[in-house]
Amino acid sequence: MGNEAIPSTHPRAQSLNIRHALIQGVKDGITADSGLIAHGRGEAFDYLLGERTHDFAEKAIIASAAALFTAKHPVISVNGNTAILCPKEMVEFSNMSSVPLEINLFYRTSGRIEKIADVLRKHGAKYVLGVNEEEQVELDGFDSYRRIVDRNGIEKADVVVVPLEDGDRTENLVRMGKTVVTIDLNPLSRTSIAANITVVDNILRFFPLLKKHYLSMTPERAKKILDEYDNKQVLQASLEAISTLWRDELVRKYDLFHQ
Ligand code: ATP
Ligand code: MG
Repeated sequence: MGNEAIPSTHPRAQSLNIRHALIQGVKDGITADSGLIAHGRGEAFDYLLGERTHDFAEKAIIASAAALFTAKHPVISVNGNTAILCPKEMVEFSNMSSVPLEINLFYRTSGRIEKIADVLRKHGAKYVLGVNEEEQVELDGFDSYRRIVDRNGIEKADVVVVPLEDGDRTENLVRMGKTVVTIDLNPLSRTSIAANITVVDNILRFFPLLKKHYLSMTPERAKKILDEYDNKQVLQASLEAISTLWRDELVRKYDLFHQ
């Protein structure tokens, strides 16, 4: 990810480069324009979290690895933001674990689905669902295009990973009895609150850690982790981090600048 206008010495270079990658994603028809606004909301929370993976997020990632490890039919839902932000790491995890990637879009057009599928295939994805019209079914209770799902993916899944998700769908998937894992930087979103496992972290940092913990999982460990996991406590810890992290940091930065 890079843009010639952004000097590598700029203190926010990485964040700016990611913005430009998403803008390019919109120009290429991969990301929806409203995906940029969703990203902005995520960025704001990432800033408040100090742009790093906290212990509470890693705990949720370990629980995600355990849920995927023990699932009969796991699936990862892919949208136009994740296809730009972390295609390589996401495909690597999917290929290694055989957990399929299902393209499932709020702003659905057949052109965008094909373009996202191309991105995933270019990165070597072996298991891509949501592309073949004949395999698609409609779920009850959904108003948006996200009701259209793959019969071999989200419809039959027991564990669904829905990064950067809209609250309506998360609530419906949970009501259907599925275990929902989300990656959402906003711990107050409807998605974060409704999900069974909420990773309050940037999707950019998620898949490498998921892979690490998945590789060291055993059936016994997975059961113990899931039995002991408390999502409410994870969400509370994330709010505490947001409110305490900046107290000292603000004073430090202010004094440094004004000395
Ligand atoms: P909800 O519908 O759940 O109440 P919302 O309407 O505020 O949430 P949506 O646009 O539906 O937001 O969902 C996008 C979510 O993805 C937001 O909560 C945003 O914070 C989060 N998000 C955006 N970019 C990232 C990212 N890179 N990593 C993790 N989360 C992100
Ligand atoms: Mg929403």
